[in-house]
Formats: sequence, C-alpha cells, structure tokens
Amino acid sequence: MPKPNHKNKIAIIGAGISGLSAAAYLTQAGNEVHVFEKHHQPGGRARQFKTDNGFTFDMGPSWYWMPDIMDNFFSDFGHKTSDYFELVSLNPQFEMIFSDMKIDVPESFEEMKSLFESLEKGAGQKLEEFMKSAEFKYEVGMKDFVQKPCHSWLEFVSPKIAQSALKLDLLSNFRSYVGKYFKHPKLRTLMEFPVIFLGASPKNIPALYSLMNFGGYKKGTFYPMGGFYQLILGMQKVAENQGVTFHFNQNVEKINTEKDKVKSLLINGETHNFDAVVASSDYHHTETLLNQNERNYTEDYWKKRTFAPSCLIYYLGLNKRIPNLKHHTLFFENDLDEHIDAIYGEKKWPENPLFYVCCPSKTDPQVAPEGSENLFLLMPLAIGLNDEEETREKYLKDMLIRLEKHTGQADLADHIVYKRSFCVSDFIKDYNAYGGNAYGLANTLKQTAVLKPKIKNKKIKNLYYTGQLTVPGPGVPPSIISGKIVAKELINLKNA
Ligand SMILES: Cc1cc2nc3c(=O)[nH]c(=O)nc-3n(C[C@H](O)[C@H](O)[C@H](O)COP(=O)(O)OP(=O)(O)OC[C@H]3O[C@@H](n4cnc5c(N)ncnc54)[C@H](O)[C@@H]3O)c2cc1C
Repeated sequence: MPKPNHKNKIAIIGAGISGLSAAAYLTQAGNEVHVFEKHHQPGGRARQFKTDNGFTFDMGPSWYWMPDIMDNFFSDFGHKTSDYFELVSLNPQFEMIFSDMKIDVPESFEEMKSLFESLEKGAGQKLEEFMKSAEFKYEVGMKDFVQKPCHSWLEFVSPKIAQSALKLDLLSNFRSYVGKYFKHPKLRTLMEFPVIFLGASPKNIPALYSLMNFGGYKKGTFYPMGGFYQLILGMQKVAENQGVTFHFNQNVEKINTEKDKVKSLLINGETHNFDAVVASSDYHHTETLLNQNERNYTEDYWKKRTFAPSCLIYYLGLNKRIPNLKHHTLFFENDLDEHIDAIYGEKKWPENPLFYVCCPSKTDPQVAPEGSENLFLLMPLAIGLNDEEETREKYLKDMLIRLEKHTGQADLADHIVYKRSFCVSDFIKDYNAYGGNAYGLANTLKQTAVLKPKIKNKKIKNLYYTGQLTVPGPGVPPSIISGKIVAKELINLKNA
C-alpha cells in the first residue's frame, strides 16, 4: 500500500471482517485508525461464543472456501495463514441428502470426476470442462473484476476484460449454464448449490459465478482448527500489530457533518473528531446515522433491492456422539425451487424447507466436551418475517426429525444439553441488519459491480462504506476484499 501524504485519523464503524481488513490496510499505509464495535468482541456475523458446559459455537460462517484470498490478506502483512491457525482439508467436503439417495463430495477432484461419471455417462469429462472455464473466471474474476471500486463501468474497459468478456458468461444465467453440462438432476443441484451463498435463485445469478464452484469444490473445503473465529482472531492480531486501536462495546449513534465533510462521530453519548470515516456496519443502518439529505439512497431504493436471505439458526450441544453424520451435511430432500420461492416470491416461512447442518466436533475436539457433539443448524428464510419462539421451535422439531432419520438416531432431542436460536429479529438487533438479512444483498446481475450500493458517499467527501452490502458482495473472501478496496480509495484521497 502506498503511504499517504499525511497521517489521517480514521474511524471504522464495526469490527466485522470488512472492518478488520480495512483497518489493517489503512494503518499499514500510515494512518491512525480506531475501530468502534458495538459488541464486546470482533467478528460481526462471524463471532463465536462459549457455553458454561464446554461448547464453542461459531455464530456464522462455516464454509472456508477460496483459501487463497485469506492467504493473500496475511501475506500482504508479511505472514502466512499458518502463523495464525491450522487449516484442515475436509474429506468428504460435504454430504448432500436427497429423498432417494445421498452424495458425498470427495476432496480429490479425480474422485469427484468418477462420482459424476457414475451418475451420468460423460459427466466426468464435462466436469473437467466446467472447472476449466470456472478456473478462468476465478482467475479473471478474483484477481481483476472483484478488486475494482466500481465507481463506473469505465473501470471495466480494458483489453484484458474485453478479450475475456464472452468467456466470463456475464449474461447467461447460472441454471441454464449448468444445464448445458449436466442432465442428471442431482448433479445439477449439486453444481447449483454454491451460488445459493450469493443470495438468489440460480435462475437469477450470472453464470460468471461458476467461479464459486472452482473456489469451493476444486480448491477444496477447509476448516480452521479452533473454529472459523480463528480467522477473526488472526485478522485482529494483524491489525493490532499494524497499530490499530480497537474500542469494544462502543455503539456509533450519529455521524456528524460540517459542510460536505464528516467532522465527528457520536459514540456512547460522546463526540470524537476524525478526518475520515469508513462504515462497515450494514449500509442502510449507516445511512440512518446521517441526516436525510446526506444519504446516498432513499428508503424506496432499499425496498426495491433483492436482499440475500435471513435464516433460522440453532446452536445445539448434545451429550452424545452422532454416528453417520459428516462435518457439513445439506438436507436437500425437498424441492429447491419451492424453498427459493418462499424466500423471494411469497416471502413466507417455507412449507417444505431445505436446511444445513454443520457438526465441527467431527473434526475438532476443542469445540465440544468429550463424548459430545456440536451442531449448527441453518435454514434460509425471507427477510422481514415474524420469528416467534413457537415458530422457531416448530422448525427445529422438523429439522431434528430429518436429522434422526438420516443418522438412524431416534432420541436426539433428549440429548440436547445446550440450545440457542438466532433468527430474523436477532440479525436486526445484533447487526442493525435491514429486514434481518444474514448475507447482505444478492449478487443478481442488476446488483453486481457498478450496480451495487456505492463505496463512497456522494455528498460527504470523507465517508466510505465497506462490507457485504457493497462491492464485491457477500461472503468472507469478498468482505476481506471489500475492506482492501475501500482502504485503497482512502489512501489515494489526499488530505481527507
Ligand atoms: C449465518 C451465516 C453463515 C454464513 N456462512 C458463510 C460461509 O460459510 N462462508 C462464507 O464465506 N461466508 C458466510 N457468511 C457470510 C459472511 O459471514 C459475511 O459476508 C461477512 O462476515 C460479512 O462481514 P461484514 O464486515 O460485511 O459485516 P458484519 O460481520 O455484519 O460486520 C459489521 C459490524 O458492524 C457492527 N455494527 C453495526 N452497527 C454498528 C454501530 N452503530 N456501531 C458500532 N458497530 C456497529 C456489527 O456489530 C458488526 O460487528 C455467513 C453469514 C451468516 C450470517
């Protein structure tokens, strides 16, 4: 990072992944950086908590994909990921349960090709071709496309991007693209699964995002020993070593401006002056900290966005081991499109939901007492739903029945010794999330790149936004990149 002309005092709102990333890069460039976080710990949606009876739960992310992006972060500061935590490659990467069969996705690509071939003649070779194209998109996409601040389409006018425009498949949709390679319905679902992370139906996601299949299935699915939170602790250490000062239990209540600049922040009732501010808090919430005429977007704008889903999560501690369960299991016995319609179409609780179970204690003895199991159940939901206790419990019962059926255990509910749920209203309360979204804005074509909420405030010169609601989008790796993009912008801004 280039050094700025003079040392600015910069405030960052929020110590989530994007805030940690922005803080580390801005301090590396010579600025004085202070991070204000409303919670008592860093991580935001990727926080962790421990229970009195010995369980350790990661609250959000569990799929460690695109490891090169995390590696790049640490190497930008002269370190290796392994300086901070041990990464384990999972085998199988995950298991997918259908109504009539189950598929284990192996760690080895050769074995994955054999699996595809066993289900559809010629599909092994097709997978090879699919991944070649996905690798190209990953290389161009992650090294070039997603690193842009996206002020204007002109940033994308380069001979390299022009040459590769067609190969990037920006204009075809992901579902029809997958359909060109595979006919077997289970293989199609398997290939469609990664883009569900991007918060929309595969019908509405550009085929460019087959780069996710490469970043996941081909590069592998990893787990940081000690939990995903080890990444947060590593990033915090990097930031602190650069000289970042963290202030926890500090709620930013107002962004005060003078003429066309931020002057100060009102934090827990006290005013603090800064030369510039980067808000990694949820975009809509950040704008409510400004006067109406200073905001980039109106309420109407937000109403018209397609948000990525919210979700119902259960953190469960069980006082027995569960045989026949993998680290990651996807319960896809019901129709994917019906569940997607409940999220984006009818915006109601799904009748026949799909859900996901993470059981990190299968890999990591540190996250549950001996002889016990740590379970994280997640069911995607429309934003804005009522989430009373009774409704949550009804869905927990359904998920447990399916889990019992899959594992052949009839009494899982009797062995629950810790239970906590987290749903729409908790996302609003804890993260100031619009409608209780879990994953920010969906990466539909109309909400990609320049069409995402802007990283710079149009009226206030020294106010920037970062995180999963702006470029490049939702997910741990994109949030790291988002922090770096915004830091570069501020470093280039002389005398904030
Ligand atoms: C349940 C779940 C599962 C996920 N699974 C995966 C996965 O497996 N793999 C993956 O790659 N991604 C996953 N993601 C997505 C990933 O976790 C997010 O994209 C990423 O963590 C977002 O980081 P962020 O910095 O943009 O926002 P946040 O993490 O929300 O950080 C914003 C911070 O700002 C703070 N804040 C808000 N308002 C204020 C205020 N007024 N004052 C002070 N502080 C404030 C918040 O407390 C928070 O700490 C998952 C997300 C969720 C919710």
